[in-house]
Amino acid sequence: MTAIGFIGLGNMGFPMACRLKEAGHEVRCFDVNTGSMERAHDAGLQPRASVQEAVAGAEVVITMLPSGRHVLEVLGAEALPFAPGAFVIDCSTIDVESCAAFHATLGERGLVTLDAPVSGGVGGAAAGTLTFMVGGTEAAFARALELLRVMGKNIIHAGAPGAGQAAKICNNMLAGISMLAVSEALHLAKRLGLDPKKFFEIASTSSGQCWALTSYAPEPGLVPAAPANRGYEGGFASELMLKDLRLAEQAAVASHSPALLGAAAASVYAMHCAAGKGRLDFSSIIQMLGAAQPARI
Ligand code: NAD
Repeated sequence: MTAIGFIGLGNMGFPMACRLKEAGHEVRCFDVNTGSMERAHDAGLQPRASVQEAVAGAEVVITMLPSGRHVLEVLGAEALPFAPGAFVIDCSTIDVESCAAFHATLGERGLVTLDAPVSGGVGGAAAGTLTFMVGGTEAAFARALELLRVMGKNIIHAGAPGAGQAAKICNNMLAGISMLAVSEALHLAKRLGLDPKKFFEIASTSSGQCWALTSYAPEPGLVPAAPANRGYEGGFASELMLKDLRLAEQAAVASHSPALLGAAAASVYAMHCAAGKGRLDFSSIIQMLGAAQPARI
């Protein structure tokens, strides 16, 4: 049994913390949201009154917070009573610079750190089937494996500190672009008079095949488990996809990398969120196209 301090009990953090508890670990947790703390209490986790109390004496500290700013605010406080040599794993999706600051600041205090962002959504967090992309030393990765296996199915050591976040940002840029591409293709197919189910059947076994189409199609009636069939509720929010596309844009500028399609996808998601659709699953981006009128030239 490991004493774990878990900070951030939102859509992802709560089910991840529950899996750790079910595996027999002692999970001392904290979230600024009182509703999340009540839910944690009801689930048998051990709510603490502050970050300080959740961290005190913990062998491992895990964070699952919205952004880099939150991670640095929470973990950067000078007075945090980390146990000597404690292991700190940040599972949030954050920007490259904040991730570097996370490793540097905590490393100076003698703590062992990993960036370990995830893919697989809320369903994957509840089922323990997340993919973890991990940045840190070989020794730190080896030390974390057993705990990460409680929460995930695919645990991949991406490389040195920061490599996990780099992989996550690139992956989500790809997912955002391909969801938009699938939406455009489905929309055009319908405008050309094709039955979406026929087009789905054809493209799923042709060169247009991709995860956004075959596992997560944005058109209702094609993939039973996809959020499109539940009014785009749940899933991965468009505003989080916009956040990740912005992280990719920042990283592309900083590394002098062309990312034209990533930038275009970010603009479309920004318009979608500005239209009040930010909480809907990111496959709802197809609605941006559906509203367009046929051109009259
Ligand atoms: P969320 O908004 O549901 O949860 C974040 C939690 O952090 C909230 O409960 C919030 O109250 C808490 N929080 C904020 N500031 C805090 C502070 N100072 N101290 C303690 N708690 C604080 O977000 P989420 O969907 O759980 O996502 C968390 C991270 O995981 C994000 O970086 C997101 O991009 C990433 N992610 C999300 C998904 C998904 O499907 N939702 C998938 C993969 C990765």
